Amino acid sequence: MRYCILASGSKGNSIFVESGHARYLVDVGLSARKIEERLATRNIDPATISGIVLTHAHGDHVKGVGVFAHRHKLPIWGHPDTLDEITPYLKPGPNVKPWTGNFRTEDLSWTPFEVPHDSEPTHGYLISDGRSTLAICTDLGHYTERIREHLLQANAILLESNHDPEMLMSGPYPWHLKDRISGRRGHLSNYDAGELLRSILNTRLRRVTLGHLSDQNNTRDKALNTVLEHVGPRGEAFIGVIEQQTVSEMYVL
Ligand SMILES: [Zn+2]
Ligand SMILES: [Zn+2]
Repeated sequence: MRYCILASGSKGNSIFVESGHARYLVDVGLSARKIEERLATRNIDPATISGIVLTHAHGDHVKGVGVFAHRHKLPIWGHPDTLDEITPYLKPGPNVKPWTGNFRTEDLSWTPFEVPHDSEPTHGYLISDGRSTLAICTDLGHYTERIREHLLQANAILLESNHDPEMLMSGPYPWHLKDRISGRRGHLSNYDAGELLRSILNTRLRRVTLGHLSDQNNTRDKALNTVLEHVGPRGEAFIGVIEQQTVSEMYVL
């Protein structure tokens, strides 16, 4: 399996995942043009993408999905309620594929798991090609035992490390937004990401990328250092950070 984080953060999210002939995007949260530009930086022709899988219906995850799916004639998988929410914004005739549990697309099998967030429902995914497993786990206000159980199966994780609580509370956001972000259905803090990671460390886990960082209320160093304080120095070998403006390298898993 290969994967590449095309964008991660509150201004847009998209992840490319490939195994064999299966080439999928998880979320299309930038304009179709920007997604195509970012794919081009990794030499991926958008015409070769097989389909799209959605986590939830917030704009930073679905902004470009209508145009991109229409232009490249792609099927869109998602929870039925997520698809219901976005269908009015799609051009006529998209091939929507509501899933009702685990599902399979060519060489990839997908295990959705629900995460607590203020777009209901919101899902993370375990994505496996039978040899290795990638977990995508962003947009969650807190973590549950069930989420931990899923992440324990992963060889690599894209994990939300959204904000530094002190920066959020002392920053410029209005109180209702501070409440929303720090709430039980908001976004995961650096501190909680560190606690969660410490609790799931195992020999199977080979790479962690901290993502969905807030522009206003976090920095790369704060996210990484807070998480490393929880995980310990051994985390330096396998934990990295992805910032909004950057496309990750193409990781082989
Ligand atoms: Zn988001
Ligand atoms: Zn969201």
